[in-house]
Amino acid sequence: HLSLRLKEVASFVPQGARLADIGSDHAFLPVFLVTDKRIDFAVAGEVVKGPYEIAKAHVAAQALQNQIQVRLANGLAAFSKKDEIDTIVIAGMGGVLITQILEAGLEKINAQMRVILQANNHEDTLREWLSRHGFEIISEKIVEDADKIYEMMVAKKTDQKQELSVDEIKFGPRLKKEKSAIFIKKWQKEYQTRQYILSQLPNPTMPKYQAVKEEVQQIKEILK
Ligand code: SAM
Repeated sequence: HLSLRLKEVASFVPQGARLADIGSDHAFLPVFLVTDKRIDFAVAGEVVKGPYEIAKAHVAAQALQNQIQVRLANGLAAFSKKDEIDTIVIAGMGGVLITQILEAGLEKINAQMRVILQANNHEDTLREWLSRHGFEIISEKIVEDADKIYEMMVAKKTDQKQELSVDEIKFGPRLKKEKSAIFIKKWQKEYQTRQYILSQLPNPTMPKYQAVKEEVQQIKEILK
């Protein structure tokens, strides 16, 4: 019963990966990957006691304790060097929270690791953070699941500075090139929302009006 969103996230996990799923909730993602014989080692990190207990019970009920270690931990503190983690997933949270988790655990991320991220909002904040901290976005995808549109990305730490342009931060460097039907749908909707906001703002000289107007222009350009 994995959601389409989580199936798409799972598709970025390489065969045989040693996975850390941070904010695993009920450990659905690692259970799916192990049951599907895609991986045989995962740490499921969860900071809240309730979901942690449920994840543990869920893993035990399927007799997967040898493959999936459920740990009560904050962010990347869920794993250590001896786990030999090569793939990190952080999915289903706000973009700001994801950047906070990455920032707090930055020294645990090495250049070999694949970092798979799916923010429910503020994807631009996340991409800007990645760009400023020397991560390269090597893959991106935009999907629709139950009338919601989700963006996901794979990032890797590099030595070189990866400055993204203003447009790349807002729309995603690969998504904006690809311009898929779902991408167009998302930004058409965002465009309409902002047009509505403009129509409701009484005074065109206020700074908010100008900011939204610039955003409308930026979206209009990308939709051309
Ligand atoms: N990753 C799953 C998914 O994509 O469906 C679950 C998403 S769930 C909405 C987010 C989970 O992240 C919650 O269970 C929450 O307790 C957990 N979480 C939030 N902050 C966390 C942190 N700093 N460290 C570990 N888990 C965290």
